Amino acid sequence: MKKPHIVIVGGGFAGLTLARGLKRAKVQITLIDKANHHLFQPLLYQVATASLSPGDIATPLRAIFRSQKNVRVLMNRVGEVRAHEKKIRLVSGEEFSYDKLVLATGARHSYFAHPEWESTAPGLKSLADALRMRQKILASFEKAESLLGVMQGGTGVETEDGSVTEKSVGKENYAELTKLLTFVIVGGGPTGVELAGSIAEIAHQTLRKDFRGIDPQKTRILLVEGGGRLLAAFPEKLGANAKKELEKLGVDVRLSSSVVNVMFDAVQVGEELISTSNIFWAAGNTASTLIKTIGTDLDRAGRAIVTEDLSLAKFPEISILGDAAHCVDHATGNPLPGVAPVAIQQGQYLAKRIKAELKGKKIPPFQYWDKGTMATIGRGRAVAKLGKLRVTGFIAWLMWSFIHMMYLIGFRNRFAVMFLWMYSYVTNRRAVRLITADDL
Ligand SMILES: Cc1cc2nc3c(=O)[nH]c(=O)nc-3n(C[C@H](O)[C@H](O)[C@H](O)COP(=O)(O)OP(=O)(O)OC[C@H]3O[C@@H](n4cnc5c(N)ncnc54)[C@H](O)[C@@H]3O)c2cc1C
Repeated sequence: MKKPHIVIVGGGFAGLTLARGLKRAKVQITLIDKANHHLFQPLLYQVATASLSPGDIATPLRAIFRSQKNVRVLMNRVGEVRAHEKKIRLVSGEEFSYDKLVLATGARHSYFAHPEWESTAPGLKSLADALRMRQKILASFEKAESLLGVMQGGTGVETEDGSVTEKSVGKENYAELTKLLTFVIVGGGPTGVELAGSIAEIAHQTLRKDFRGIDPQKTRILLVEGGGRLLAAFPEKLGANAKKELEKLGVDVRLSSSVVNVMFDAVQVGEELISTSNIFWAAGNTASTLIKTIGTDLDRAGRAIVTEDLSLAKFPEISILGDAAHCVDHATGNPLPGVAPVAIQQGQYLAKRIKAELKGKKIPPFQYWDKGTMATIGRGRAVAKLGKLRVTGFIAWLMWSFIHMMYLIGFRNRFAVMFLWMYSYVTNRRAVRLITADDL
């Protein structure tokens, strides 16, 4: 008998877990991803802030499935779902038929009806995003040092104590330096908090002694959040703790402050215009655009509304997992958050369901087991909510480190990341402070 053909689009947490869970099933799987690797997104900010290299947090999909014979990996982008014909269409034009289709295509940042802001205020979702961000952060310090070097070398402008002032370098030059050394992070969720904490550590600790002209400790780092507190998905006390810790690191946290405009070299926050060449976006998510092509019910974030077994009511042969799905948590009645454990548990559930169906059986509806949430604030600080337990500080950071390491794919990656974290913790250095593009 012909084996059922399951097409999985997306090799992130959900798609990968599903495909691995079907290892011994009598099915033929085609796994399609526009990237050639599985990416551990929770550590992306560490690539963006020069602590880890891309290879530490990403593994080629082809290598992961080397010995799983029922999986065929294709690197391509799926452009359209033709649900009525049971076909998908790649952007390169080819079509694939399926018996079952699983879309696990994740999410992108949402710019609240201002897609034009993306080029100036990049987000952090892929390795390419992280490398661009790393480039921008490191290059800003280099540009500022170079600008000051040219000014001081050319005109000898300097104050007695060596400090750089508007008077010593001139109004225009001073404004340019301030712009380069001002970083604005939009969005006070876990990614914004992690980014702000890491950039503050780079500026105020790692680079402290490395420059002769500029003083990296004078770098301004602003974290702008529209809501009244940080880490809205965490208990209020942990959000307040994160704010206090960030302020200790020198971050200017602006709560209840909305970004009303993003310009090439400035951001307008409420009435205030902040001059900066570094705006990073960590606010809001929207599901991958592929989901729109199915012709099914979507929520406001563009996620497909799934039934309790993670399929679509209109097309039961299609399932949506992870960040692309709007799945109601039966315990709370609220939609499940876009986090890795949800995606992983959904992948595990669907593998079980498909295996049961192959034997003509049914399994109970999907239920999420919330094991807790964590966010780091910098080297050695974190907040964690584990059931009724609330943990902050170094212990929370140790827990965060251990859990993240356990979930990394591959022994080599776990070992490398553990070593680099120890190195960075003890020396306060960042191992990957490299600018690799030559378009400074
Ligand atoms: C910076 C950052 C930090 C985070 N930190 C945490 C954290 O600390 N803890 C936590 O639990 N969660 C965290 N998350 C969220 C977590 O990473 C996501 O919830 C999780 O990755 C969702 O898994 P997924 O499988 O749904 O999608 P993803 O992991 O995003 O995978 C989607 C895959 O689909 C592929 N794809 C997309 N569109 C197409 C297409 N048209 N054709 C082919 N392939 C396509 C992509 O290349 C990708 O490989 C973080 C996310 C980010 C971005």
